[in-house]
Amino acid sequence: MTAPRSTEFPTPPMKQTKSMRIFAEAAESLGLHPYISASANLSETYTNPDGKTINQCMYCSFCERFGCDYQAKSDPLITVIPTALETGNFEIRTHSNVREIAYDGNQSDGVYFTDTRTGEDYFQPADIVILTSYVMNNTRLLLQSGIGDPYDPESETGVIGKNYCYQVMASAQGFFDEQFNLYAGAGALGGQVDDYNADNFDHSDLDFLHGGTIQHTNTGIRPIATNPVPPGTPTWGKEFKEASAHYFYRTLSLGSQGASLPYRYNYLDLDPTYTDSHGDPLLRMTYNFTEQDRNLAAHQSARLTEILEEMGANEVVSNPDIGDYNIMPYQTTHNTGGVIMGADSETSAVNNYLQMWDCENLFVVGASAFPHNSGYNPTPTVGALSYRAAEGILSYLEDPRPLAE
Ligand SMILES: Cc1cc2nc3c(=O)[nH]c(=O)nc-3n(C[C@H](O)[C@H](O)[C@H](O)COP(=O)(O)OP(=O)(O)OC[C@H]3O[C@@H](n4cnc5c(N)ncnc54)[C@H](O)[C@@H]3O)c2cc1C
Ligand code: SF4
Repeated sequence: MTAPRSTEFPTPPMKQTKSMRIFAEAAESLGLHPYISASANLSETYTNPDGKTINQCMYCSFCERFGCDYQAKSDPLITVIPTALETGNFEIRTHSNVREIAYDGNQSDGVYFTDTRTGEDYFQPADIVILTSYVMNNTRLLLQSGIGDPYDPESETGVIGKNYCYQVMASAQGFFDEQFNLYAGAGALGGQVDDYNADNFDHSDLDFLHGGTIQHTNTGIRPIATNPVPPGTPTWGKEFKEASAHYFYRTLSLGSQGASLPYRYNYLDLDPTYTDSHGDPLLRMTYNFTEQDRNLAAHQSARLTEILEEMGANEVVSNPDIGDYNIMPYQTTHNTGGVIMGADSETSAVNNYLQMWDCENLFVVGASAFPHNSGYNPTPTVGALSYRAAEGILSYLEDPRPLAE
């Protein structure tokens, strides 16, 4: 069960590893609809429409959280950035920290930035400003520059900083007798099911909205960071070492990336106390999981356990209660919201071309535009929004005006 697509992906799916096959078989026997996840690691060598060639992935598994030395991952360093440089109209000024967007109440005529190597301040004039500094700095720079009304959770007025959402994660580990070649893999290699995502399943007896995708990834296991042992194993000594060596290749994990819905008291604003080294206020995040999130995670956790048991795990460990939000341990980097897209300037910050309602020559691109986060990775949608913004920017250059459709 995958969402309908207007066109096929340009390259076929990645290879299916043994653990991915067992996952798919178990999911099918539970009546689910597994498929191989779309990934930026390429299954075969591909030359994109801009003429940039991306190599076939070697499944070396190095890129789980790192770059690919072999140029087999479609990241901007080998795709859009060289293409932009070739035009001769693109310059990268590294170590430039933009601290404010100039704003006269209607338009922007550039940005103020500091060269972090010399401490020198500059003004960069611009006809159009495109803000692409990730969810956090998109929100922070608008607040710092006085563009758009800051969100106030008490009065529920204002827009900048509102609808901050995260990703509601659930995970489970299964301990197996059989061994898997988990050292091989690729950064986004995996299989998934969407049967418990969005409205793809019956919610009538459930106490939450939406859902999440369920995925088994084969991304390679890092030798020090990965040390799974079943509960009850001593935390040090001979027994721990033996269990650690035994289970290194006999533990499979499943995860669910659940949707995160907006709440009145989950928001971003400028910190009244803490500043950065320039004396500019830091961004403050006010956030916690809600009952909706906890119920969703508990449901997904139970589904993960079912699938792992069907896969043949001897023992499954899951965490059905996500409790309160905490940045530790690392859960995900999928932050969204703060500068949301909408049809009305009273309730949103940008229109459907990512153009600011309050500053028509400023385009704010990123997952900051998401009114809520869905049960998926955010970046493909960020890419799609970039194309949408580019369309709007080209049209605005020809005829400067508010663009909303
Ligand atoms: C470890 C990790 C794993 C991830 N895995 C996945 C995944 O599997 N799938 C997925 O969909 N997403 C994943 N993400 C999320 C993904 O990286 C982001 O969604 C994506 O990079 C957002 O793109 P962006 O262009 O909006 O922001 P970014 O890629 O963060 O780019 C923002 C740029 O702006 C620059 N910048 C910021 N502030 C300023 C300033 N004041 N002045 C000048 N420059 C500034 C930054 O240096 C940066 O280069 C992952 C993130 C991390 C950290
Ligand atoms: S697994 Fe990752 S690092 Fe290795 S070749 Fe493939 S894309 Fe590159």
